[in-house]
Amino acid sequence: MFKMVKNTPKVAVLGAGVVGLTVAKIFQDRLRHADITVVADKFKGDTVSCVAAGIFRPGLSFRGPTYEITKRWIDNSWYYWQDILKTSEADKAGVVALSTYIFSKENYHTTRNRLIEDLVPIYRPVDENELQIAGKGWKYGSYFTTVKTTCDYYLPWLENSFVKSGGKIVNRKIDSFSSLNFDLVFNCTGMGAKYLCNDYDLVPIRGQIFKVKAPWLKTAFYGDYDAYIIPGQDGIATLGGVRQYDSYNMQVCRHDAAAIMERCVDLLPALKNVEVVAQKVGLRPHRVPVRVEAEVIDDLKVVHCYGHGGYGVMCAPGTAMHAVDIALDVLRSNIRSKI
Ligand SMILES: Cc1cc2nc3c(=O)[nH]c(=O)nc-3n(C[C@H](O)[C@H](O)[C@H](O)COP(=O)(O)OP(=O)(O)OC[C@H]3O[C@@H](n4cnc5c(N)ncnc54)[C@H](O)[C@@H]3O)c2cc1C
Repeated sequence: MFKMVKNTPKVAVLGAGVVGLTVAKIFQDRLRHADITVVADKFKGDTVSCVAAGIFRPGLSFRGPTYEITKRWIDNSWYYWQDILKTSEADKAGVVALSTYIFSKENYHTTRNRLIEDLVPIYRPVDENELQIAGKGWKYGSYFTTVKTTCDYYLPWLENSFVKSGGKIVNRKIDSFSSLNFDLVFNCTGMGAKYLCNDYDLVPIRGQIFKVKAPWLKTAFYGDYDAYIIPGQDGIATLGGVRQYDSYNMQVCRHDAAAIMERCVDLLPALKNVEVVAQKVGLRPHRVPVRVEAEVIDDLKVVHCYGHGGYGVMCAPGTAMHAVDIALDVLRSNIRSKI
């Protein structure tokens, strides 16, 4: 234990998206004396994380190696966000509580979510009156309360706190692990891991969204075929979306845009003629299972944490805690072997 305190491990976190920065901060909080550097070639608004609306609502394509591990990641993430929500920092961190309706014209079961129904304060079927809130023809629905994290706020908030506590940030693209000289490296490179690790199981799921001016919108809505409407902290709401498997197209597609707008207006007619502020595209780093595990690459100890697909904002904390536990075990066993 005494040797542990004297030894100052030199650790890098590759990636400054929601996963990398969350790993860096949790690791820093767990091992105060560590020398930690975040290395990335994209920051804040240039990351996929800042395309996301950041709602806490997992889909069944979010999978760890077992159901128990998946559930632990989700539950730990929920309590991490709740802890921030309880503090005066919540606003600055971009974390807000959010009421959400999910409607379907076709199937009641798609409005349920067994991964969070035991976790969130309210998850219940809607009544007839609530069905009238949306446009015409919606037959089924559920209402639930959840949280949402806006990375435009969360990433700078986390980066400030990390740097204030002695963390370092380096802007650099990494082409191979062998170029790195650290005791341990966290690999939180999202889609970048495809090239860095030659990981063919990592596939983009392309998303496209509108940012629109809707300060009156206070509730989130989901409909069939990936339609969603999520209010934003600053009066700018997110309208989505599409899920295009294995598409690398980073251009805004006008056909997707027309379909998204049509579905969102069908879901909430008040959005007709809403002012569009921006359109964005992002590639969700999808992998089954999400990769949280250790590997030794060219004598370098690496802990991977990537492949969160469409759920990386909500589940960054739970997977980060797991990655940090693994890293501490790896570092401890290394230190013990040197005693
Ligand atoms: C349209 C859309 C909507 C979404 N909505 C939600 C939602 O509501 N809720 C939710 O939880 N999730 C949502 N997501 C998913 C979420 O955005 C991702 O799961 C999450 O951002 C992944 O985070 P990340 O940190 O792994 O990746 P990124 O944010 O992409 O960050 C990767 C980091 O790694 C760095 N990097 C990569 N390769 C290298 C390299 N070779 N050298 C140096 N640095 C490197 C990059 O520069 C960057 O800093 C959505 C995604 C999209 C596209």
